[in-house]
Amino acid sequence: MTTKQIVLAARPKGMPVIENFEIKTIELPGIGDNEILLEAMFFSVDPYMRGRMNDAKSYAPPYEIGKPITGGVVAKVIKSNDADFKENDMVTGNLPWQERCIVTGDGLLKIDSSIAPASYYLGILGMPGLTAYFGLMDIGKPKAGETVVVSGAAGAVGMVVGQVAKLEGCRVVGIAGSDEKVKLLKDELGFDEVINYKTAADMTKAIAAACQGGVDIYFDNVGGEISDAVIGNINFHARIALCGQIALYNTTEIPTGPRLQPMLLTRSVLMQGFIIGNYQSRFAEGSRYLAKAVQEGKIKYKETVMEGFDNLPVALMGLFEGHNIGKMIVQA
Ligand code: NDP
Repeated sequence: MTTKQIVLAARPKGMPVIENFEIKTIELPGIGDNEILLEAMFFSVDPYMRGRMNDAKSYAPPYEIGKPITGGVVAKVIKSNDADFKENDMVTGNLPWQERCIVTGDGLLKIDSSIAPASYYLGILGMPGLTAYFGLMDIGKPKAGETVVVSGAAGAVGMVVGQVAKLEGCRVVGIAGSDEKVKLLKDELGFDEVINYKTAADMTKAIAAACQGGVDIYFDNVGGEISDAVIGNINFHARIALCGQIALYNTTEIPTGPRLQPMLLTRSVLMQGFIIGNYQSRFAEGSRYLAKAVQEGKIKYKETVMEGFDNLPVALMGLFEGHNIGKMIVQA
């Protein structure tokens, strides 16, 4: 049996380009003892993957040149020599960018697609949803009546942050990059205010106007000038959950911004970075909260689904151009 796979062909300089990826066809052997043959259904593309394309030490090791990219995948069991997995089981795990692959059961999680569509296990019921939940609840510590600002608000993480904050009784202001995203967040997902950072003349003033009492919690998905503008409006005893810095992922030189530490100091602000893996021992708590909210219709989730395995690189690159509303998924 053969399968297509997508490997890292070259490391990007700045924004990734299609030449950084190569599609290959490889032979798959038969499955051995305790092995499982999987067929991919949905692939997740995530901003952190850009960091793994660099040859730099980080919390996740770099992808190797000539080796397949790996990431979150929802797959169907086609054949199994592992008693814990049977044909047609749906699973999720960190798997290679291949249409089919042979793995052991280590790290595979069975999913229940009666709770929600299977692809949600790559979004709200997977890593992005848990990131939103723990970043907001554990670092943001929302209290009813407080004002929460979230950047990257129409993305996989951001749209969950805003809706969980609303469930916790907060006033929620989102920042996103198109009028379509602004409309969705306000009209469908219940955000109180949303700012289009691409058309706002002055972001510091736009945030001040949207947050008349200042900002109590900032969930930072993007960094850069957007975050400088939010921090300019930060309140005494505010909390900043430092989740992502996508505005900087493709810069070859990190720009120097304003010196924000004096403001953080004089306003007694807590700013804390986090990686979702830090919360592994508490994933069940986050999953329970999110699954319940989805099942009860209290949180709505959106996806942008691109069709076709070969489109994985285009989907990944699209994250850095804002092509997605909600979770970017590739359906094999
Ligand atoms: P998204 O679904 O939000 O997709 C990325 C979005 O970022 C785009 O749609 C785009 O929306 C926005 N964006 C892209 N480039 C820029 C830019 N230069 N300036 C401002 N916005 C930009 O991704 P996720 O929800 O999966 O991830 C959101 C953030 O959270 C990322 O920074 C990611 O790295 C981080 N993250 C961190 C985790 C952790 O453990 N700490 C775990 C998961 C994610 P727009 O149209 O609004 O510009």
